[in-house]
Amino acid sequence: MRVIHSPAEMTAWSREQQASGLKVALVPTMGYFHDGHLSLMRAAAGMADKVVVSLFVNPIQFGPGEDLESYPRYMDRDCRLAEQEGVNVVFAPHSSEMYPDGFQTTVSVGRITRHLCGRSRPGHFDGVATVVTKLFHITRANAAVFGEKDYQQLAVIRRLVVDLDMDVAVHGHPIVREADGLAMSSRNSYLDRDERQTALCLYESLALARRAAASGVLEAGELASRVREHILSRSGTEIDYVSFVDYRTLEPVDRIDANTLLALAVKINSKVRLIDNSLLLTEEGAA
Ligand code: AMP
Repeated sequence: MRVIHSPAEMTAWSREQQASGLKVALVPTMGYFHDGHLSLMRAAAGMADKVVVSLFVNPIQFGPGEDLESYPRYMDRDCRLAEQEGVNVVFAPHSSEMYPDGFQTTVSVGRITRHLCGRSRPGHFDGVATVVTKLFHITRANAAVFGEKDYQQLAVIRRLVVDLDMDVAVHGHPIVREADGLAMSSRNSYLDRDERQTALCLYESLALARRAAASGVLEAGELASRVREHILSRSGTEIDYVSFVDYRTLEPVDRIDANTLLALAVKINSKVRLIDNSLLLTEEGAA
């Protein structure tokens, strides 16, 4: 496996592969790999000849007061895990090469970025869309894999690729969970034992809402009250949002149907903000 830091070298490597008729799949990440990341790498290997994993804690997608400085960085460990998965290249650029002096372009996707996380993290999706556009260009990716755990991010990237006629096949990958249901996340490492227990309220709420919807409770308002009540019954929780949206547009809905996604963002002890989501009335959404 190669570790490449320079964007120019990355592009040259991909050009070489593509000149021999090979397809390149990209898995963009911020590192500190868990099984969620590794399963994206495996999926990427199934859809292209070569797999590139980018490892870059993208400063422009973090807002003031967020965890840019403390975000876990374990480059050597991550490279070992990627190598075990058969990844061909880890692309780990330096911030100064991604955003050199004079950099002044932002890729901004519209309405779909303003719901859900876009409300409490202004500018976040501009940072995501900008870095992903750069990563697509640098790696010349034919395909890219994103996790459904960051559902809005996936929806924003799908929109971006269509709107800007990018020739990249975007694949969504189901959420990978711990045995007790907690969605895997690099940020779970911030949780102590009690907080880890509290964090289960996200998964439990999705399951609770799915059960209620299956039994015929289809008013979003009613389901939202039940979910909020469940989350707030745990001490130290603070709800950022409990939203019922159409999974394609992320527009809020009043009544649940097969296209409805429940998306949650909850802060635990004012320090760790966790997200999770599930479709409510389909098997794939089975949380
Ligand atoms: P991150 O390193 O957190 O930026 O995540 C990199 C990619 O892994 C994103 O596409 C995430 O959606 C995806 N990902 C993170 N956690 C999970 C998970 N538990 N299951 C599936 N995909 C995930």
